[in-house]
Amino acid sequence: MTNHSNPTCLQTCAEMCLQYWNRYPGARVDSEMPFYQLNIPEVYRDWNFSSRFPDHRELRQYMAHIDRTLDLRKDVTFDARVNDAMWDKEDCLWTVKTLQGHVARCKYLMLASGLLHRTYTPDFAGLKDYKGELYHSGDWPEDFSAKGKKVAIVGAGAVGLSIDRVCFLFWTLANLVSMISRLLFKSHRSSVKRQTNLPSC
Ligand SMILES: Cc1cc2nc3c(=O)[nH]c(=O)nc-3n(C[C@H](O)[C@H](O)[C@H](O)COP(=O)(O)OP(=O)(O)OC[C@H]3O[C@@H](n4cnc5c(N)ncnc54)[C@H](O)[C@@H]3O)c2cc1C
Repeated sequence: MTNHSNPTCLQTCAEMCLQYWNRYPGARVDSEMPFYQLNIPEVYRDWNFSSRFPDHRELRQYMAHIDRTLDLRKDVTFDARVNDAMWDKEDCLWTVKTLQGHVARCKYLMLASGLLHRTYTPDFAGLKDYKGELYHSGDWPEDFSAKGKKVAIVGAGAVGLSIDRVCFLFWTLANLVSMISRLLFKSHRSSVKRQTNLPSC
């Protein structure tokens, strides 16, 4: 990769992802549509969300729609984790390198690397000795099933309550889970407002 006249986006993921790993039960946008939608006619013209607070599957479909419509991926290099950026005073250019060996030179470097894509697991005493399955909401497996499991959820924030609500509905309405003992460990009280997720118009 050398100097580009077009912007080049170096992306650590293998796909246009939108927090691909944030797919825990109940994961959905908390900002009502259309407020979280691109205000670009080509993009909104052909797109209708099915609900006011679309879930993570529909959000990924929306990202794929944006990608197709604006042909974004032609400017993206996937599987490219930036690990070095050096400013050259002589040339007035940045040299950007990735873990995978890409090298890009550019005049303007924009860091849009976010701050929420990394998981954090507190160092709970005894965690290393825990023998059960352990999942983090920010790195959720695609094929998780709560069926027949005792489930304990740590945290009663928006994500913890969402996981709890979905597992609980699964248990009471579908009656498919033979035994779930729901434990919600929390450090403080949360307040929850009812969300009416009617179809968007
Ligand atoms: C569970 C969850 C739910 C949320 N819900 C909402 C919501 O409902 N409404 C709302 O408004 N906001 C929500 N947010 C916040 C919102 O997602 C973030 O504010 C937004 O994604 C930040 O955008 P960003 O582009 O700055 O970073 P990100 O979306 O995090 O994008 C950063 C990108 O940079 C890539 N990257 C990181 N490091 C490197 C590197 N070294 N080299 C190359 N690429 C790299 C990452 O792979 C990622 O694709 C939520 C966040 C989370 C975690």
